[in-house]
Amino acid sequence: MYLQHEYLPGRKWVARLPFEADLLQTLEAFAAEQGIKVGQGVVIGAVKKAVVGFYDQHNREYSSLEFDEPLEILHCTGNLSMRDGVHKAHMHLTLGNSYGLTVGGHLLPGTIIFAGEAVLEELAGPELVRGYDGETGLPLWEK
Ligand code: ZN
Repeated sequence: MYLQHEYLPGRKWVARLPFEADLLQTLEAFAAEQGIKVGQGVVIGAVKKAVVGFYDQHNREYSSLEFDEPLEILHCTGNLSMRDGVHKAHMHLTLGNSYGLTVGGHLLPGTIIFAGEAVLEELAGPELVRGYDGETGLPLWEK
């Protein structure tokens, strides 16, 4: 492993998410308001529509997939850290449709909350900073 830091448990929040708000923006705004520089979170609930990304490893770019329908958030998990001085949430979702089939990907702006319950946890320790990684083309935690 490139990066190993030890963190102590920090503050924890359990939150109901606002109706018709953007999921990614809501999580990042909360991290900024609370000053969470390193953390993790899980969300369950439902969305009115979803936009998720798939990273094309060859072309080194995200393609976005839009699902313009009500979906259950079966699982949404990820982490909170800093990039260019901005609080960023890196979250992945598994979503279920009315047939019980699943889609998913990397959470992008445009995913609109119908109802949501989040558990967020701050990790107390060194600041994690994202920077450009030449091997992958992604903004990864620095080695
Ligand atoms: Zn991702």
